[in-house]
Amino acid sequence: MPQNRESGIAANQYGRATARKIMESLGARTIKSNGNECYLNNKLIAIKCARKRTSDFGLSYKMLERIDGVIGACEIEQDTYKLYELSTQLFRKNMRPTKSKGPAAGRVGLVRKSVFYQNGKLIGHINVNPNKAGKKLPESKIDLSKNMKLDSKKDLIKRIGDEVLSHARFVIGVAAGDDIQMKFKLNRWVYSRLMQEEIREKRPIKQALWNSGVKACQKCGQKFKDMKGIEIHRKDSEKIYSVENCELLCRPCHQQHPSE
Ligand SMILES: [Zn+2]
Repeated sequence: MPQNRESGIAANQYGRATARKIMESLGARTIKSNGNECYLNNKLIAIKCARKRTSDFGLSYKMLERIDGVIGACEIEQDTYKLYELSTQLFRKNMRPTKSKGPAAGRVGLVRKSVFYQNGKLIGHINVNPNKAGKKLPESKIDLSKNMKLDSKKDLIKRIGDEVLSHARFVIGVAAGDDIQMKFKLNRWVYSRLMQEEIREKRPIKQALWNSGVKACQKCGQKFKDMKGIEIHRKDSEKIYSVENCELLCRPCHQQHPSE
C-alpha cells in the first residue's frame, strides 16, 4: 500500500520503537539511540518490523552496505512478533526499488515478507510487551533457542499457506466480481497451473528412477511394463521430491500409502 508522508513518518516511528524493544529482549548491543541497527552475536543486524497488513520490508541501500543481516519482525498478534533472519545477499537478490515518490525514492529497496518466511531463518517469536502479557522475558541474554518457542514447521506451512490462499481468494473475488463463471474459471486456472508446476517437478525424478532400473512397484513388487500409470511417492513426507526421497509405486499401493 503506498504511503503518504504522515503515514510514512508514523510507520517509521512505530518501526524504530518496536525494533528497540526487540533489541532489548534479545540482549543486543544497540548503536544509536533511535536506530534500527544493533550488534547481535558479533554481527551488525538491522531489525525491521512489519505490522500484519504490511507486505514488505524496506531498507535503505546505504544501510544494506553496512550491515551483515536483517531480522524481519512480523507481527502475528498485538505485541507479538515472529523473527526471521535474512542475509543481505538474499535481501538484495529479492529486492525491488520502492515506488515511493517521497524521500525514499531511489534510496530504498523493498523485499516481500513472504521472502522472509520462505528463505529466512526462523529465530522464534517474541512478545515486546511482556509485562502486559504477564510474562517477563530475560533481559540480557542472547540465547534465542531457550527464550523463544519455535513453531513446528507444519504450523508454519499451514499459517502461511492459509494466508496465501486467502489472498488468492480475495484477488479472484475482486477480479471476478459478480461473474460466477469468471470466478470458477479463474479458480480452475490458478489451481491447474499450480498442479502443473508440481507435476513438472516430479516428472524428471520419476524418469531418473525408471532409468536407474526401478521397474517394479517398490511396495508389492508388481512389474511395470512402461512408465504409464506408475506413481511417484515421497518416502519422507516432510521432504520434497528428489531421487533420494522418492520411490515408484503402483497406484493401489500409492493409495494405501499417501504421503500426506
Ligand atoms: Zn504396488
